[in-house]
Amino acid sequence: MDSVATLENSIKAFKLTEKYHGDAVSLERALFLGWYCSLNDPCKFCFMSTQKQKIKEPLRARRRIESILAESIIMKRIGWKLEFISGGYGYTTEELNDTIEMVSYVQGSKQYLNVGIIDFENINLENIEGVVGAVETVNEKLHKEICPGKPIDKTKEMLIHAKDNGLKTGITIILGLGESEKDIETLLNMIEELELDRITFYSLNPQKETIFEGSASITTLEYMNWISSVRLNFPKVKIATGTWVDKLTNIGPLIMAGSNVITKFPLFSLYGKKEGKTVENEIYSTGRNLYGSFSDIDALKGLKLAKNTKYVDEKISISSKNLDAVERMKKDVDKKIEGYIKKALKTPFSDFGE
Ligand code: SF4
Repeated sequence: MDSVATLENSIKAFKLTEKYHGDAVSLERALFLGWYCSLNDPCKFCFMSTQKQKIKEPLRARRRIESILAESIIMKRIGWKLEFISGGYGYTTEELNDTIEMVSYVQGSKQYLNVGIIDFENINLENIEGVVGAVETVNEKLHKEICPGKPIDKTKEMLIHAKDNGLKTGITIILGLGESEKDIETLLNMIEELELDRITFYSLNPQKETIFEGSASITTLEYMNWISSVRLNFPKVKIATGTWVDKLTNIGPLIMAGSNVITKFPLFSLYGKKEGKTVENEIYSTGRNLYGSFSDIDALKGLKLAKNTKYVDEKISISSKNLDAVERMKKDVDKKIEGYIKKALKTPFSDFGE
């Protein structure tokens, strides 16, 4: 990698991002449905692959809908969009339809989905804004080794169907799986071929009991090289970049390289604490503004609206069955919200908290 070229490209990418995406950066977070993935051959980097043998009753490894709705409500309060509704494989289309409907309803916002291969015949598209395919790595050889259970071609096919159905599309890419700089070209070709609207990058967070346990992260300059290459070639694409608690100071450089969304935090452990402030300061240090907050306790408590927010009220259709269910669960959802706020206010930060 030519580090000087990466920095020069980043300056161009930064300016291009402002031209097409404005002067503010958003915070987003994936909404997880559970801890179990039904893929027979789970992905070798994934936390869920380490849990599969330990989970005897997969249905009990799902989050309760009350907790999912509570988190959705808090996200709206603090001005964070849900990056996508995400879970391993194994959710029925009926379950997904109900969850999407209820989450969209409490947020007044349509959602992105990242839940494996979607059954377009039966999914209710009314409240879906887009679909994300978990590509993880564009290096085919590596993909076959690391994600044997979800061939790239099937994911691509699904994204093409999603476009045919009028939806926006995106992919996720994890850096640090063993890819090389040459793979950037393959990624650029994929973005063009699939006409993607968004791409989420993560820097691998090595999980215990996986083949990546103890492995080193990619460097910030390498990460910047991927981001700036995408931004320079696709000025309009939304680029979300994931970080982690031990890498918060890469946020500024990632924004300089063309990222316009920051994601992947253990939110409730960091909110309002020095780590949350660090995230905000990293964003402000680039000269950009921020949508949402990582520190405003009144916003978290629902006492006021977050200052800048990406939310615009959208018309959400919900069945009377699901509307009744949301009404019935209101007390439990409120209790859950209180629990999350308590966690944010009291729990000292722990890397394993969420
Ligand atoms: S499909 Fe997703 S949840 Fe399932 S093993 Fe792969 S990365 Fe993990």
